[in-house]
Amino acid sequence: MTLRNVGDLPVLPLPESFALTAAYNDDQFPNKVNLGQGVYRDNNCQPWVLPSVREAEETLHNQQVNHEYLPIAGDSKFLTKARQLLFGPQIASSAENISSLQTVAGTGANHLAALFCARNLCPKNVFISDPTWDNHHLIWEMAAPNVTQRLYPYYDPTTRGLNLDGMLAELESSAEDNDVVILHACAHNPTGIDPTREQWKKIAQVVRRKKLFVVFDCAYQGFASGNADADAWAIREFYSMLFTEELSSSSSSTPAGMFVCQSLSKNFGLYGERIGALHLIIPPWTSPEGAKAHLVQLVRAEISCPSLFGARIVHTVLDDAELCTKWQEDVRIMALRIKTVRALLKSELEKIGARGDWSHIEQQIGMFSFTGLSIAQVQELRERHHIYMLSNGRMSLSGLNETNVAYVAGAIRDVL
Ligand code: PMP
Repeated sequence: MTLRNVGDLPVLPLPESFALTAAYNDDQFPNKVNLGQGVYRDNNCQPWVLPSVREAEETLHNQQVNHEYLPIAGDSKFLTKARQLLFGPQIASSAENISSLQTVAGTGANHLAALFCARNLCPKNVFISDPTWDNHHLIWEMAAPNVTQRLYPYYDPTTRGLNLDGMLAELESSAEDNDVVILHACAHNPTGIDPTREQWKKIAQVVRRKKLFVVFDCAYQGFASGNADADAWAIREFYSMLFTEELSSSSSSTPAGMFVCQSLSKNFGLYGERIGALHLIIPPWTSPEGAKAHLVQLVRAEISCPSLFGARIVHTVLDDAELCTKWQEDVRIMALRIKTVRALLKSELEKIGARGDWSHIEQQIGMFSFTGLSIAQVQELRERHHIYMLSNGRMSLSGLNETNVAYVAGAIRDVL
Protein backbone atom coordinates (compact mmCIF):
# COMPACT_ATOMS: atom_id res chain seq x y z
CA MET A 1 0.00 0.00 0.00
CA THR A 2 1.28 3.49 -0.81
CA LEU A 3 1.84 5.73 2.13
CA ARG A 4 -0.42 8.79 1.84
CA ASN A 5 1.19 12.12 2.44
CA VAL A 6 -1.21 14.55 4.07
CA GLY A 7 1.22 17.29 3.16
CA ASP A 8 0.02 16.84 -0.45
CA LEU A 9 -3.57 17.70 0.35
CA PRO A 10 -4.90 20.69 -1.59
CA VAL A 11 -5.84 23.83 0.30
CA LEU A 12 -9.61 24.26 0.47
CA PRO A 13 -11.33 27.64 0.43
CA LEU A 14 -12.90 28.91 3.65
CA PRO A 15 -16.73 28.87 3.64
CA GLU A 16 -17.83 32.12 2.07
CA SER A 17 -19.41 33.76 5.13
CA PHE A 18 -16.26 33.19 7.23
CA ALA A 19 -13.97 34.32 4.40
CA LEU A 20 -16.07 37.48 4.02
CA THR A 21 -15.82 38.31 7.71
CA ALA A 22 -12.04 37.85 7.61
CA ALA A 23 -11.77 40.10 4.52
CA TYR A 24 -14.05 42.68 6.14
CA ASN A 25 -11.91 42.71 9.31
CA ASP A 26 -8.77 43.30 7.22
CA ASP A 27 -10.37 46.12 5.23
CA GLN A 28 -9.09 49.52 6.43
CA PHE A 29 -11.76 51.59 4.66
CA PRO A 30 -13.57 53.65 7.33
CA ASN A 31 -17.07 53.27 5.82
CA LYS A 32 -16.89 49.54 5.13
CA VAL A 33 -20.17 47.64 5.69
CA ASN A 34 -20.54 43.99 6.70
CA LEU A 35 -23.72 42.45 5.31
CA GLY A 36 -22.20 38.96 5.15
CA GLN A 37 -22.46 36.89 8.31
CA GLY A 38 -25.92 35.94 9.63
CA VAL A 39 -25.60 37.55 13.03
CA TYR A 40 -27.73 40.17 14.73
CA ARG A 41 -26.21 43.60 15.23
CA ASP A 42 -27.63 46.51 17.23
CA ASN A 43 -28.40 49.99 15.91
CA ASN A 44 -24.69 50.80 15.91
CA CYS A 45 -23.97 47.57 13.99
CA GLN A 46 -22.30 46.12 17.09
CA PRO A 47 -22.80 42.70 18.74
CA TRP A 48 -25.74 42.76 21.15
CA VAL A 49 -25.84 40.72 24.35
CA LEU A 50 -29.56 40.35 25.07
CA PRO A 51 -30.39 42.06 28.40
CA SER A 52 -32.29 38.92 29.49
CA VAL A 53 -29.18 36.85 28.78
CA ARG A 54 -26.98 39.32 30.69
CA GLU A 55 -29.29 38.99 33.68
CA ALA A 56 -29.15 35.19 33.50
CA GLU A 57 -25.33 35.36 33.39
CA GLU A 58 -25.35 37.40 36.61
CA THR A 59 -27.73 34.96 38.29
CA LEU A 60 -25.49 32.05 37.35
CA HIS A 61 -22.39 33.89 38.52
CA ASN A 62 -23.98 34.45 41.92
CA GLN A 63 -25.02 30.81 42.14
CA GLN A 64 -21.36 29.72 42.05
CA VAL A 65 -22.20 26.81 39.76
CA ASN A 66 -19.83 23.87 39.30
CA HIS A 67 -18.36 22.51 36.07
CA GLU A 68 -19.21 18.81 36.15
CA TYR A 69 -19.91 16.68 33.06
CA LEU A 70 -23.45 16.66 31.72
CA PRO A 71 -25.19 13.41 30.80
CA ILE A 72 -24.56 12.35 27.16
CA ALA A 73 -28.04 13.52 26.09
CA GLY A 74 -27.46 16.89 27.73
CA ASP A 75 -29.00 18.99 30.47
CA SER A 76 -32.52 17.65 31.04
CA LYS A 77 -33.78 20.94 32.51
CA PHE A 78 -32.58 22.80 29.44
CA LEU A 79 -34.11 20.18 27.14
CA THR A 80 -37.51 20.47 28.79
CA LYS A 81 -37.52 24.23 28.24
CA ALA A 82 -36.14 23.99 24.70
CA ARG A 83 -38.86 21.47 23.82
CA GLN A 84 -41.56 23.74 25.26
CA LEU A 85 -40.23 26.67 23.28
CA LEU A 86 -40.45 24.72 20.06
CA PHE A 87 -43.60 22.68 20.48
CA GLY A 88 -45.55 24.84 22.94
CA PRO A 89 -46.35 23.72 26.49
CA GLN A 90 -49.31 21.56 25.47
CA ILE A 91 -47.57 19.25 22.99
CA ALA A 92 -44.31 19.28 24.97
CA SER A 93 -45.91 18.12 28.22
CA SER A 94 -47.97 15.30 26.75
CA ALA A 95 -45.75 14.01 23.96
CA GLU A 96 -43.89 10.88 24.91
CA ASN A 97 -42.98 10.39 21.28
CA ILE A 98 -40.52 13.32 21.32
CA SER A 99 -36.93 12.48 22.29
CA SER A 100 -34.58 15.41 22.77
CA LEU A 101 -30.82 15.71 22.95
CA GLN A 102 -28.62 18.74 23.51
CA THR A 103 -26.36 19.49 20.55
CA VAL A 104 -23.47 21.67 19.49
CA ALA A 105 -25.83 24.44 18.28
CA GLY A 106 -27.99 24.08 15.19
CA THR A 107 -25.07 22.81 13.13
CA GLY A 108 -24.50 19.95 15.56
CA ALA A 109 -28.21 19.11 15.45
CA ASN A 110 -28.17 18.99 11.65
CA HIS A 111 -25.06 16.86 11.70
CA LEU A 112 -26.44 14.41 14.26
CA ALA A 113 -29.68 14.13 12.27
CA ALA A 114 -27.76 13.40 9.06
CA LEU A 115 -25.56 10.80 10.78
CA PHE A 116 -28.56 9.08 12.34
CA CYS A 117 -30.48 9.02 9.07
CA ALA A 118 -27.53 7.69 7.11
CA ARG A 119 -27.00 4.83 9.55
CA ASN A 120 -30.52 3.91 10.54
CA LEU A 121 -32.99 5.16 7.97
CA CYS A 122 -30.78 4.56 4.93
CA PRO A 123 -32.63 6.92 2.58
CA LYS A 124 -31.73 6.94 -1.08
CA ASN A 125 -32.07 10.73 -1.35
CA VAL A 126 -32.06 13.83 0.76
CA PHE A 127 -34.05 16.69 -0.77
CA ILE A 128 -32.60 20.13 -0.07
CA SER A 129 -34.15 23.47 -0.98
CA ASP A 130 -32.71 25.40 -3.89
CA PRO A 131 -31.10 27.55 -2.59
CA THR A 132 -30.29 26.78 1.03
CA TRP A 133 -27.82 27.43 3.85
CA ASP A 134 -24.59 26.19 2.24
CA ASN A 135 -23.66 24.03 5.21
CA HIS A 136 -26.60 21.68 4.59
CA HIS A 137 -24.69 20.37 1.58
CA LEU A 138 -21.40 19.97 3.41
CA ILE A 139 -22.98 18.36 6.47
CA TRP A 140 -24.79 15.71 4.39
CA GLU A 141 -21.72 15.15 2.22
CA MET A 142 -19.60 14.47 5.32
CA ALA A 143 -22.11 12.63 7.50
CA ALA A 144 -24.09 10.76 4.85
CA PRO A 145 -21.87 10.25 1.80
CA ASN A 146 -24.06 7.41 0.50
CA VAL A 147 -27.20 9.52 0.40
CA THR A 148 -27.76 11.38 -2.87
CA GLN A 149 -28.38 15.11 -2.47
CA ARG A 150 -31.16 16.42 -4.69
CA LEU A 151 -32.39 19.99 -4.92
CA TYR A 152 -36.08 20.79 -4.82
CA PRO A 153 -37.24 24.05 -6.42
CA TYR A 154 -37.92 26.68 -3.77
CA TYR A 155 -37.17 30.20 -4.99
CA ASP A 156 -38.79 31.49 -8.15
CA PRO A 157 -36.65 34.36 -9.49
CA THR A 158 -39.41 35.61 -11.78
CA THR A 159 -41.95 36.14 -9.00
CA ARG A 160 -39.31 36.51 -6.28
CA GLY A 161 -41.57 34.19 -4.32
CA LEU A 162 -41.98 30.54 -3.39
CA ASN A 163 -42.19 28.01 -6.19
CA LEU A 164 -44.63 25.77 -4.32
CA ASP A 165 -45.85 23.91 -7.38
CA GLY A 166 -42.31 23.11 -8.46
CA MET A 167 -41.38 21.99 -4.96
CA LEU A 168 -44.38 19.69 -4.54
CA ALA A 169 -44.07 18.29 -8.07
CA GLU A 170 -40.43 17.39 -7.47
CA LEU A 171 -41.20 15.63 -4.19
CA GLU A 172 -44.21 13.84 -5.72
CA SER A 173 -42.32 12.60 -8.74
CA SER A 174 -38.84 11.87 -7.39
CA ALA A 175 -39.04 11.01 -3.69
CA GLU A 176 -39.11 7.43 -2.48
CA ASP A 177 -40.18 5.92 0.85
CA ASN A 178 -37.87 6.97 3.68
CA ASP A 179 -36.28 9.74 1.67
CA VAL A 180 -35.40 12.79 3.71
CA VAL A 181 -36.57 16.33 3.02
CA ILE A 182 -34.97 19.29 4.79
CA LEU A 183 -37.42 22.13 5.48
CA HIS A 184 -36.58 25.51 6.99
CA ALA A 185 -39.09 26.01 9.81
CA CYS A 186 -39.19 29.80 9.44
CA ALA A 187 -37.20 32.76 8.07
CA HIS A 188 -35.75 30.72 5.21
CA ASN A 189 -32.01 31.20 4.72
CA PRO A 190 -31.11 32.73 2.26
CA THR A 191 -34.35 33.75 0.54
CA GLY A 192 -36.40 35.23 3.41
CA ILE A 193 -39.46 33.56 1.89
CA ASP A 194 -41.62 31.19 3.95
CA PRO A 195 -44.65 29.17 2.89
CA THR A 196 -48.02 30.48 4.08
CA ARG A 197 -50.01 28.31 6.50
CA GLU A 198 -52.10 26.94 3.63
CA GLN A 199 -48.94 26.11 1.70
CA TRP A 200 -47.41 24.36 4.74
CA LYS A 201 -50.50 22.15 4.94
CA LYS A 202 -50.06 21.16 1.31
CA ILE A 203 -46.41 20.33 1.95
CA ALA A 204 -47.41 18.22 4.98
CA GLN A 205 -49.92 16.30 2.85
CA VAL A 206 -47.23 15.40 0.30
CA VAL A 207 -44.86 14.43 3.12
CA ARG A 208 -47.52 12.11 4.54
CA ARG A 209 -48.51 10.62 1.19
CA LYS A 210 -44.90 9.99 0.19
CA LYS A 211 -43.90 8.95 3.77
CA LEU A 212 -40.97 11.33 3.76
CA PHE A 213 -38.75 11.83 6.78
CA VAL A 214 -38.69 15.56 7.48
CA VAL A 215 -35.67 17.28 8.97
CA PHE A 216 -36.93 20.67 10.10
CA ASP A 217 -34.13 23.16 10.50
CA CYS A 218 -35.21 25.84 12.98
CA ALA A 219 -32.42 28.40 13.30
CA TYR A 220 -34.42 31.63 13.46
CA GLN A 221 -37.38 31.05 15.78
CA GLY A 222 -38.63 34.52 16.67
CA PHE A 223 -36.89 36.32 13.81
CA ALA A 224 -39.68 35.89 11.26
CA SER A 225 -42.53 37.47 13.20
CA GLY A 226 -40.97 38.66 16.45
CA ASN A 227 -42.97 35.96 18.23
CA ALA A 228 -41.45 32.56 19.00
CA ASP A 229 -44.81 30.74 19.11
CA ALA A 230 -45.95 32.08 15.76
CA ASP A 231 -42.65 31.08 14.18
CA ALA A 232 -43.00 27.49 15.41
CA TRP A 233 -46.40 27.11 13.74
CA ALA A 234 -45.22 24.84 10.90
CA ILE A 235 -43.43 22.45 13.25
CA ARG A 236 -46.47 22.18 15.52
CA GLU A 237 -48.76 21.72 12.54
CA PHE A 238 -46.61 18.91 11.12
CA TYR A 239 -46.59 17.29 14.54
CA SER A 240 -50.39 17.38 14.69
CA MET A 241 -50.90 16.30 11.11
CA LEU A 242 -48.38 13.46 11.12
CA PHE A 243 -47.65 12.16 14.61
CA THR A 244 -50.67 12.26 16.92
CA GLU A 245 -52.65 9.36 18.42
CA GLU A 246 -55.71 9.98 16.26
CA LEU A 247 -53.72 8.89 13.25
CA SER A 248 -52.88 5.48 14.66
CA SER A 249 -55.55 3.70 12.65
CA SER A 250 -53.88 4.91 9.48
CA SER A 251 -50.35 4.25 10.68
CA SER A 252 -49.32 2.87 7.33
CA SER A 253 -49.56 6.34 5.86
CA THR A 254 -47.36 8.00 8.45
CA PRO A 255 -43.64 8.71 7.96
CA ALA A 256 -41.17 6.84 10.16
CA GLY A 257 -40.30 10.02 11.99
CA MET A 258 -39.28 13.64 11.88
CA PHE A 259 -36.34 15.58 13.27
CA VAL A 260 -36.32 19.17 14.43
CA CYS A 261 -32.89 20.83 14.59
CA GLN A 262 -33.14 23.71 17.03
CA SER A 263 -30.56 26.47 17.18
CA LEU A 264 -30.54 28.92 20.08
CA SER A 265 -27.61 30.84 18.63
CA LYS A 266 -29.61 33.63 17.03
CA ASN A 267 -32.67 34.03 19.23
CA PHE A 268 -30.56 34.14 22.42
CA GLY A 269 -27.56 35.82 20.78
CA LEU A 270 -25.44 32.91 22.02
CA TYR A 271 -23.53 32.41 18.76
CA GLY A 272 -20.21 31.36 20.25
CA GLU A 273 -21.65 29.23 23.05
CA ARG A 274 -22.85 26.59 20.57
CA ILE A 275 -26.17 25.68 22.12
CA GLY A 276 -28.94 23.77 20.37
CA ALA A 277 -31.06 20.65 20.50
CA LEU A 278 -32.20 17.82 18.29
CA HIS A 279 -35.73 16.50 18.72
CA LEU A 280 -36.82 13.20 17.22
CA ILE A 281 -40.55 12.68 16.78
CA ILE A 282 -41.83 9.20 16.00
CA PRO A 283 -45.38 7.86 15.68
CA PRO A 284 -46.90 7.52 19.18
CA TRP A 285 -47.58 3.80 18.73
CA THR A 286 -43.86 3.05 18.30
CA SER A 287 -41.16 3.05 20.98
CA PRO A 288 -38.60 5.88 21.17
CA GLU A 289 -36.10 3.96 23.33
CA GLY A 290 -34.04 2.30 20.59
CA ALA A 291 -33.72 5.40 18.43
CA LYS A 292 -32.79 7.50 21.46
CA ALA A 293 -30.11 4.98 22.46
CA HIS A 294 -28.61 5.14 18.98
CA LEU A 295 -28.54 8.96 19.06
CA VAL A 296 -26.86 8.82 22.46
CA GLN A 297 -24.21 6.49 21.06
CA LEU A 298 -23.48 8.85 18.17
CA VAL A 299 -23.08 11.76 20.61
CA ARG A 300 -20.82 9.70 22.85
CA ALA A 301 -18.49 8.94 19.94
CA GLU A 302 -18.41 12.52 18.76
CA ILE A 303 -18.39 14.83 21.78
CA SER A 304 -18.94 12.47 24.72
CA CYS A 305 -21.31 14.99 26.27
CA PRO A 306 -22.31 18.56 25.45
CA SER A 307 -21.18 21.78 27.11
CA LEU A 308 -22.82 23.52 30.01
CA PHE A 309 -22.84 27.26 29.78
CA GLY A 310 -25.32 27.91 26.95
CA ALA A 311 -27.71 25.31 28.36
CA ARG A 312 -27.62 26.99 31.75
CA ILE A 313 -28.27 30.43 30.26
CA VAL A 314 -31.24 29.30 28.16
CA HIS A 315 -32.73 27.36 31.05
CA THR A 316 -32.27 30.26 33.47
CA VAL A 317 -34.03 32.63 31.09
CA LEU A 318 -36.93 30.36 30.16
CA ASP A 319 -37.51 29.01 33.67
CA ASP A 320 -38.16 32.41 35.21
CA ALA A 321 -41.48 33.96 34.14
CA GLU A 322 -40.22 37.52 34.44
CA LEU A 323 -36.95 36.85 32.63
CA CYS A 324 -38.79 34.92 29.95
CA THR A 325 -41.04 37.92 29.30
CA LYS A 326 -37.92 40.09 29.03
CA TRP A 327 -36.42 37.64 26.55
CA GLN A 328 -39.59 37.71 24.44
CA GLU A 329 -39.25 41.48 24.35
CA ASP A 330 -35.56 41.16 23.34
CA VAL A 331 -36.55 38.91 20.44
CA ARG A 332 -39.24 41.37 19.40
CA ILE A 333 -36.67 44.19 19.45
CA MET A 334 -34.32 42.25 17.17
CA ALA A 335 -37.06 41.32 14.70
CA LEU A 336 -38.42 44.86 14.70
CA ARG A 337 -35.05 46.46 14.05
CA ILE A 338 -34.50 44.24 11.04
CA LYS A 339 -37.98 45.07 9.76
CA THR A 340 -37.23 48.75 10.19
CA VAL A 341 -34.00 48.62 8.17
CA ARG A 342 -35.83 46.69 5.43
CA ALA A 343 -38.20 49.62 5.05
CA LEU A 344 -35.31 52.10 5.26
CA LEU A 345 -33.30 50.41 2.53
CA LYS A 346 -36.29 50.06 0.23
CA SER A 347 -37.32 53.69 0.61
CA GLU A 348 -33.73 54.89 0.18
CA LEU A 349 -33.34 52.88 -3.05
CA GLU A 350 -36.62 54.29 -4.34
CA LYS A 351 -35.71 57.82 -3.27
CA ILE A 352 -32.47 57.82 -5.24
CA GLY A 353 -34.12 56.17 -8.24
CA ALA A 354 -32.24 52.87 -8.18
CA ARG A 355 -33.47 50.94 -11.20
CA GLY A 356 -35.99 48.14 -10.50
CA ASP A 357 -38.71 47.11 -8.08
CA TRP A 358 -37.44 46.83 -4.50
CA SER A 359 -40.66 45.77 -2.80
CA HIS A 360 -39.24 42.27 -2.19
CA ILE A 361 -36.82 43.71 0.37
CA GLU A 362 -39.75 44.63 2.59
CA GLN A 363 -41.80 41.52 1.82
CA GLN A 364 -39.09 39.01 2.72
CA ILE A 365 -38.80 38.01 6.37
CA GLY A 366 -36.14 37.06 8.89
CA MET A 367 -32.54 38.11 9.01
CA PHE A 368 -31.81 38.25 5.30
CA SER A 369 -32.76 39.82 2.05
CA PHE A 370 -32.26 37.89 -1.16
CA THR A 371 -31.61 41.04 -3.11
CA GLY A 372 -31.49 39.69 -6.66
CA LEU A 373 -28.06 41.29 -7.20
CA SER A 374 -25.81 39.26 -9.50
CA ILE A 375 -22.43 37.77 -8.61
CA ALA A 376 -20.70 40.51 -10.61
CA GLN A 377 -22.67 43.24 -8.86
CA VAL A 378 -21.89 41.77 -5.44
CA GLN A 379 -18.22 41.64 -6.35
CA GLU A 380 -18.27 45.24 -7.48
CA LEU A 381 -19.98 46.28 -4.26
CA ARG A 382 -17.13 44.71 -2.37
CA GLU A 383 -14.25 45.90 -4.52
CA ARG A 384 -15.38 49.44 -5.19
CA HIS A 385 -17.54 50.21 -2.19
CA HIS A 386 -16.21 47.94 0.62
CA ILE A 387 -19.67 46.41 1.13
CA TYR A 388 -19.53 42.71 1.93
CA MET A 389 -22.34 40.24 1.20
CA LEU A 390 -22.71 36.67 -0.10
CA SER A 391 -22.16 36.15 -3.82
CA ASN A 392 -25.69 34.72 -4.22
CA GLY A 393 -27.00 38.21 -3.41
CA ARG A 394 -27.95 37.46 0.20
CA MET A 395 -27.69 40.46 2.45
CA SER A 396 -27.64 40.15 6.23
CA LEU A 397 -29.75 43.15 7.12
CA SER A 398 -28.56 43.71 10.66
CA GLY A 399 -25.35 45.24 9.23
CA LEU A 400 -27.45 48.23 8.14
CA ASN A 401 -28.45 51.24 10.20
CA GLU A 402 -29.66 54.80 9.71
CA THR A 403 -26.09 55.99 9.27
CA ASN A 404 -24.92 53.63 6.52
CA VAL A 405 -28.15 52.85 4.64
CA ALA A 406 -27.79 55.80 2.24
CA TYR A 407 -24.20 54.78 1.45
CA VAL A 408 -25.30 51.19 0.74
CA ALA A 409 -28.27 52.26 -1.37
CA GLY A 410 -26.08 54.62 -3.38
CA ALA A 411 -23.54 51.87 -3.98
CA ILE A 412 -26.28 49.48 -5.14
CA ARG A 413 -27.58 52.08 -7.59
CA ASP A 414 -24.03 52.49 -8.80
CA VAL A 415 -23.47 48.78 -9.59
CA LEU A 416 -26.85 48.14 -11.21
N1 PMP B 1 -29.47 26.31 9.93
C1 PMP B 1 -29.54 27.45 9.25
C2 PMP B 1 -30.55 27.57 8.16
C3 PMP B 1 -28.69 28.50 9.55
O1 PMP B 1 -28.77 29.65 8.85
C4 PMP B 1 -27.76 28.34 10.58
C5 PMP B 1 -26.81 29.45 10.95
N2 PMP B 1 -26.32 30.21 9.97
C6 PMP B 1 -27.72 27.13 11.27
C7 PMP B 1 -28.60 26.14 10.92
C8 PMP B 1 -26.75 26.81 12.36
O2 PMP B 1 -26.61 27.73 13.34
P1 PMP B 1 -25.71 27.47 14.62
O3 PMP B 1 -24.92 26.25 14.41
O4 PMP B 1 -24.86 28.67 14.74
O5 PMP B 1 -26.68 27.33 15.74
